[in-house]
Amino acid sequence: MPEIGPVLVPAGEIQRKVRELGERITRDYAGQNLLLVGILRGAFVVLSDLIRQIEIPCEVDFMEVSSYGAGTTSSGVVRILKDLEEDISGRHVLIVEDIIDTGLTLSYLRRSLLARKPASLEICALLSKPARRRVELDVKYLGFEIPDEFVVGYGLDYAGCYRNLPDICILKPEVFGGAAS
Ligand code: 5GP
Repeated sequence: MPEIGPVLVPAGEIQRKVRELGERITRDYAGQNLLLVGILRGAFVVLSDLIRQIEIPCEVDFMEVSSYGAGTTSSGVVRILKDLEEDISGRHVLIVEDIIDTGLTLSYLRRSLLARKPASLEICALLSKPARRRVELDVKYLGFEIPDEFVVGYGLDYAGCYRNLPDICILKPEVFGGAAS
C-alpha cells in the first residue's frame, strides 16, 4: 500500500502489550464482574484481542462517538452516535479506546458515563500521543506512548481504510495533506 509509511508498532509487540494489559486487568478486577466498553469503531480490534487475555467474568458493550471537525483533528464536541445497551449504575466499567490524541473525546465520555453512577470507571487505551494532550486524563491502562504522527492499522483508519493492517503504521502526510496536527 503506497500510502502507508513506516511501521511504528509491529504486530508482535502489540500482542505482547495486550497480553500484559490483560494480565493486569485480570489481577486488578479479581472477584469483580467487569464491563468493557469499546469505543467504535477503532477500538473493536484491540477490544477483541484484549478480552481474550482477561481471565475473569466480563461483559462487553459498545458506544460509537464522533468528534465534529474535519480531517485528522478532534474538535472536542462529541456526538454519541450509539449509546450503551447496558445500565452501568453500580458496575465496574472499563472504557477501551484505540488512541488518545487531545484527550477531549475521552474526557467528555468519562464525564458522561460518571453521571450514570458506575461503581468504578477506568480507561484502557492502546496508544497515546502525549504531545497533543489538551486536557488532563487519568489513563490507568496504557499500551504505548507514540510521537505526534497520524497512525493507521490495528483498528485505526483513515477515511474508513487501513483498519485491517496488523501493525500500527504511520500514514504518509501527503495522503491527508500535511502534519497530523
Ligand atoms: P481526541 O479526542 O483524543 O483528540 O481524539 C481521539 C480520537 O481521534 C480517536 O479515537 C481516533 O478516532 C482519532 N485519532 C486521533 N489520533 C489518531 C491517529 O493518529 N490515527 C487515527 N486513525 N485516528 C486518530
